[in-house]
Amino acid sequence: MSCKLTQRFVPGYLDGELDLSRTIEMETHLQTCGECARELDRLQALRGTLQHSSLAYAAPEALRERIQSSLRASNPAAAAERPSGWNAFQFLRPLLLLRWAGAFAVLALCAVVALQLVPGLRGPSSDQRLAAEVLTSHVRSLEANHLMDVVSTDQHTVKPWFDGKLDFSPPVEDLASDGFPLVGGRLDYLEGREVAALVYQRRKHFINVFVWPDALGSSSTQTLAPQQGYNMVRWSRGGFQFWAVSDVSAQDLAEFVRLLEAHAAPESK
Ligand SMILES: [Zn+2]
Repeated sequence: MSCKLTQRFVPGYLDGELDLSRTIEMETHLQTCGECARELDRLQALRGTLQHSSLAYAAPEALRERIQSSLRASNPAAAAERPSGWNAFQFLRPLLLLRWAGAFAVLALCAVVALQLVPGLRGPSSDQRLAAEVLTSHVRSLEANHLMDVVSTDQHTVKPWFDGKLDFSPPVEDLASDGFPLVGGRLDYLEGREVAALVYQRRKHFINVFVWPDALGSSSTQTLAPQQGYNMVRWSRGGFQFWAVSDVSAQDLAEFVRLLEAHAAPESK
């Protein structure tokens, strides 16, 4: 992570608003960069100062009294009426409470039913969270100048590069002859674990393919609805989960995934 990017994310880091992978990147950078570490210290000190009690101001009791009396003065009828009104209907109060309790129970029931019926009202599912993470990683890899740790168009260079860096060996195919050359790879983080990111190119566009072991993944290919102009496809093969994400067209991405699977199919490699 660059200094510029780190300093942009320092406030979010202080407030605990960064996702796991970015937090790890931040901490790695902060350990080695004095300038960014000082920026963090500076903001921490500023926050400590702002939280100091000498800066908090409590309104005096007299002000509170003045506001209340001017409210009473502006509406004397309501002020006079309320106590007698309460007294007259005193015996109804338990009944009113019961009615409120009933109304509350009905509201709670409606909320539960609505949450069951309307998927959008529920929190994001783990799949939606993962899709968001995949998209974030893709965008970050492009904007942070961190697309590749190993730059190579040779699958026999890229695949061994991951040895010793990951606890698995990702399958790597090259699709140069089909117009999707492999250009490199890097380590990335998804769902709190290290994953392999394989980078392919389609003309001027990049495709990130995230790979990690997932024995339980279904073998069906799932095309996700485009998000912020990016297309995403997920699938499983041979105990691995794959996510491809890119700003190439949906057709190009589908073709890419089809070719990748066709190359992987003959187990002769
Ligand atoms: Zn720095």
